[in-house]
Amino acid sequence: MARGNLEDRRVRVELTSRDPRWKAAPRWIAANECIHCNSCVRACPEAFDAIVNVAHDVVIVPELCSGCPKCVAVCPVDCIYPDPDWQPTSDPAVWREVRR
Ligand code: SF4
Ligand code: SF4
Repeated sequence: MARGNLEDRRVRVELTSRDPRWKAAPRWIAANECIHCNSCVRACPEAFDAIVNVAHDVVIVPELCSGCPKCVAVCPVDCIYPDPDWQPTSDPAVWREVRR
């Protein structure tokens, strides 16, 4: 992965903001359907690295998710949905996990 992409991610994390150039909606995981296999975590490209494990849930951070959507293809239970009405991530535990 190009360094520039990783640098872009670093800036997104620092500013906790989504790239306004991304046209696709971020994705969202239905926690009550997810079986915690972590396939999506492994499939998310390094330049986005948008999926974290927080308090027994697998969570997509919308600010980091381009909507590419590579995770969707690998999810065995098809529980990853577009989230056009996404809200900024307010849970500090999510950002703590992102920055680990
Ligand atoms: S849609 Fe793409 S960027 Fe977003 S979580 Fe899935 S794999 Fe990662
Ligand atoms: S691939 Fe699907 S079932 Fe597996 S952790 Fe991700 S969202 Fe959950």
